[in-house]
Amino acid sequence: MTKVLQRVPGQCPPEVKSAHGVWLEDTDGNVYLDAVSGGAAVSAIGHGDSRVNDAIAAQLDQVAYAHNSFFTNRPAEELAELLLSEAPEGLSQVLYCSGGSEAIESALKLARQYWVEKGRPQKSRIISRRQSYHGATLGTLSVGGNMPRRDYYAPMLFDAQLIEPCYAYRLAHPDESEEAYGKRAAQHLEAAILEAGAENVAAFVAEPVVGATLGCAPAVKGYFKEIRAICDRHDVLLILDEVMCGTGRTGYMYACLEDEVTPDLLAVAKGMGGGFVPIGAVLVHERLAEAIRSGSGALRHGFTYMAHPLSCAAALAVQKVIKDDGLVKAAQQKGELLRQVLDERFGQHPNVGDIRGRGLFLGLELVRERNSKQPFDPSFAFHSRVKAAALEAGLMIYPSGGTIDGKQGDHILLAPAYVVSETEIEEIAERLSQALDATLVEAQAY
Ligand code: PMP
Repeated sequence: MTKVLQRVPGQCPPEVKSAHGVWLEDTDGNVYLDAVSGGAAVSAIGHGDSRVNDAIAAQLDQVAYAHNSFFTNRPAEELAELLLSEAPEGLSQVLYCSGGSEAIESALKLARQYWVEKGRPQKSRIISRRQSYHGATLGTLSVGGNMPRRDYYAPMLFDAQLIEPCYAYRLAHPDESEEAYGKRAAQHLEAAILEAGAENVAAFVAEPVVGATLGCAPAVKGYFKEIRAICDRHDVLLILDEVMCGTGRTGYMYACLEDEVTPDLLAVAKGMGGGFVPIGAVLVHERLAEAIRSGSGALRHGFTYMAHPLSCAAALAVQKVIKDDGLVKAAQQKGELLRQVLDERFGQHPNVGDIRGRGLFLGLELVRERNSKQPFDPSFAFHSRVKAAALEAGLMIYPSGGTIDGKQGDHILLAPAYVVSETEIEEIAERLSQALDATLVEAQAY
């Protein structure tokens, strides 16, 4: 019996023994093809890289830890420079933390501090979107729209205003252009700001490409430009959550570069450390950094492990691998290939309603009936079953059950490491096909 409190207490998942590239092996000798970077779009450069291992060992010989209120450290400084060098202009400083939830929690608090520094303390409300996920802490759950992860804690959460997401497959009108839909979807933000009173709203937070909740749903072209204009019009800060879709995943170093918007706060995590260490960060616009410097002069926020030297050294090595090996471009090219393979195999599949995404961040929406887009019976939990069937076929995928008009929908997210090969891409599609077929047989008998 496992002594680790597992996701499903009482069940013990296989014990992982080793991992290389996009392959993991358990202690029973089973081998898994990893189509989702360690399980959650984390291991961006694949499992194991001697350059990262060496950097970690070298840092351990120097200093593993020193509190950030006493010292800065070389890896933290170099990593900040590297992350900022490819970020939209205006982002000028980096706040480090230990993961995605801490990054979003920090961004929310920085947004709040900014308005206090600016002498507008009534600006405290946050607007976010339904069908979103921003983390597991009470603050990030408050702004998250993943209802199954939220509902037990609802009485403990603060009140955020959740607007409609940008989700073209379900919410665009059939005859509407992408551009018109983007504008219309963004209007939900303006309406929410006006309803709350712009003088009360601190920030809007959104994922450029929705990950955990909708099995990957990118905003349509133009949506975020409109969102940025609305935020500017009403003095509302824009926080972009690129915890899952950032650091190269979409074929751009940051997804917002493709959207051509500059956020005030940009959160990254997962692929930033590539799974070698737990780490996250918020890239902060100079406007905010300056307001704090010339205001109270001190962050009203901090964690023990901010700018952890060992974590920063590992993440720096990961980011250097991404840069030196041209892996952002690789993510774009491999993403195109994976997309093509998925289109060929599942483009006409009666139960695959939509294939979407950017770069190596792709999603499939599974439906009972393609034309009507009718979802499967939620009680069947298709997404969980297809994950189990994929594991049987030796394939790791990320299932999600986002809600559609209050009903459960089923999605699969694919986000392999940027080093995935052409043959491995073909193999992912082959194993996914087997898993889908097996689950459809179960669904018919249900
Ligand atoms: N934001 C997004 C977009 C995420 O996908 C996640 C994790 N799935 C988080 C925040 C939270 O990150 P973590 O689990 O590292 O706290």
